[in-house]
Amino acid sequence: MVRYEKAWQVARQRIADAARAGGRAPESVRLLAVSKTFPAAAIRRLHALGQRAFGENYVQEARSKRNELADLDIEWHLIGPLQSNKARVAAATFDWVESIDRAEIAERLSAARTGVAPLDVLIQVNASGEATKSGVSPTGAVALARQVSTLPNVRLRGIMGIPEATDDASVLRAQFRQLRQCFDACIDAGLSIDTLSMGMSADLELAIAEGATEVRVGTAIFGARDSAKG
Ligand SMILES: *Cc1c(COP(=O)(O)O)cnc(C)c1O
Repeated sequence: MVRYEKAWQVARQRIADAARAGGRAPESVRLLAVSKTFPAAAIRRLHALGQRAFGENYVQEARSKRNELADLDIEWHLIGPLQSNKARVAAATFDWVESIDRAEIAERLSAARTGVAPLDVLIQVNASGEATKSGVSPTGAVALARQVSTLPNVRLRGIMGIPEATDDASVLRAQFRQLRQCFDACIDAGLSIDTLSMGMSADLELAIAEGATEVRVGTAIFGARDSAKG
């Protein structure tokens, strides 16, 4: 068996089981393979298995991998925070940016994204309220989503969130539910969105039970990351 094949199949099975448990089709949940800190060769292996969407946290790291893998049809997602001065490079590197937490960064991305298809974007919501977490507050999510939806070269697709690091399932569920409520509030506000990105290796079942349409999975596919590298 090819390296990563077993882990990738297990992750896909977990997603399918969780979707079915909630009365949903397995295809209703996208698997984003989080490849940060792992080399381009690892992405190439996953791609050979059929994986197409990959998540990266750092603009420069993703850029060099994208260049190395230019022969492959990959959908690149930025899931880490984005600084204003990297917006231009990010707009040229990614197909999706999931970490929009203020209008200014979306405006810069839109201005830089010319001559190609619009950039798909998600509003990152801070559901845990922790000061160290990025994201707009849940009460500000709809207003920011509205603003972003008016920009010409980005396409608002939905909401992304990271709950607090805890093993307490009831805390996690409450925070996933809050993200789902932000997603529903945007739809009620007339915004046409389809993506709720939440859930990682340890908690993807809970996230899918609360309505995730995308889970971001690193460790469960690639193994533990070198913590020194993030
Ligand atoms: C690293 C990261 C992940 C993947 O986490 P795992 O626990 O390794 O699955 C998902 N989302 C974000 C935003 C991350 O930074």
